[in-house]
Amino acid sequence: MNSAPQFAVFPASGDETPVLSDTTRAMLRANAPKEECGDAPIGASMDLLRGEGLMLDDGTENPQRTVAALMQIGAANLSVGRLWEGHVNALRLLRLYGSAGQVRRAEALIASGALLGVWGADGAPPVTRDENTGKLNGEKLFASGLGTVTHALITVNSGPEVQLALVDVRDENRADARQWDMLGMRATASGKFDFTGLSLDKSALIGAPGNYLAEPHFIGGVWRIAALQAGAAAGLIGAAAEQLRAADRLEAEAQKTRLMQVLMRVWAGMAMAERAATAAQCDSLDPERIVATSIAARLFTEEVGLEAISAVEQSLGLRHFTQSAETGRMARDLSVYLRQAARDAFLQRAAGQALAEDEGFWGVFK
Ligand SMILES: Cc1cc2nc3c(=O)[nH]c(=O)nc-3n(C[C@H](O)[C@H](O)[C@H](O)COP(=O)(O)OP(=O)(O)OC[C@H]3O[C@@H](n4cnc5c(N)ncnc54)[C@H](O)[C@@H]3O)c2cc1C
Repeated sequence: MNSAPQFAVFPASGDETPVLSDTTRAMLRANAPKEECGDAPIGASMDLLRGEGLMLDDGTENPQRTVAALMQIGAANLSVGRLWEGHVNALRLLRLYGSAGQVRRAEALIASGALLGVWGADGAPPVTRDENTGKLNGEKLFASGLGTVTHALITVNSGPEVQLALVDVRDENRADARQWDMLGMRATASGKFDFTGLSLDKSALIGAPGNYLAEPHFIGGVWRIAALQAGAAAGLIGAAAEQLRAADRLEAEAQKTRLMQVLMRVWAGMAMAERAATAAQCDSLDPERIVATSIAARLFTEEVGLEAISAVEQSLGLRHFTQSAETGRMARDLSVYLRQAARDAFLQRAAGQALAEDEGFWGVFK
């Protein structure tokens, strides 16, 4: 079995207690190649997180711990991290907008083994609900965790009045994982799910129309993606260093310089994700400032993720590109996961806040 990703690739912090045990991190890492090619179900890795007591975490109680968990999981197995991030997001939205009874039921489902996800990306046609019959029509795309996620928080009736609903998505006949024909993140099985004809009782609707888009919880929550991206970039550099050490090539100054320069920037991305996670829990802050801070973290970790992939390619050379190379798979997963929605629009939105005239000189501090 591969060893756990070395914590040396994580910066020192005031609390060195790992959220995940060494055994869990090592198993997550060892499972990843089998999960990529469908030889092992990703559900077994999700059960490891369940065993670590992570399934009732929604990122609010101890955001630093949640960020640390995302980074550690992202370093070991990014696909598993993606599914856990969806679960955390869904639970957060349920607790924000669901009634006490809905939250109790969802928590009971989780206790009995449910895994949640958030499926927002619409297909053609988008998912709508007929007010009179309660029947759904339409499909979701990029629906992560087909066959593993048991209950998805879906968006119904796209637009400003979008409505959240919690739906049982275990019907395999409605899922089409073949739609996920990506070079990376294959283990997430993020394909198409057809909701057409499903009855959706009003009791499954979560919150009011438009709640889903309310800030600072919507875009303000992308710090979770930033944390995963930064963790995955650190894990990639750690795996590359491990290979170079084994090949007696890490002592070359050029190698150390190349990797360390990127690693320092990954650490900066980690710090930004931590800061955004803490800010997101602060009720007294202007929501738009939280949004800008979270966007900055996500776009910065996208940049350092790209730099990490490039540095690892240069450091390892051709061996990185063999079918079985661990670094190759990690880089494939990371490069796909770096592709998140509307990067340019997000940058403009953050700039609109941080550089706004009414923010004055101190607006550039977050
Ligand atoms: C591993 C993985 C799992 C996922 N799982 C889920 C899931 O479970 N549920 C879910 O809902 N979604 C999921 N997604 C999809 C995700 O939410 C985004 O929809 C997706 O990542 C968008 O990526 P994109 O690069 O195509 O973004 P886009 O937003 O299409 O951006 C691509 C480029 O087009 C530009 N662009 C976008 N809009 C405009 C415009 N109007 N004018 C000019 N330029 C524009 C962007 O700035 C960017 O440069 C997943 C994605 C990944 C990678």
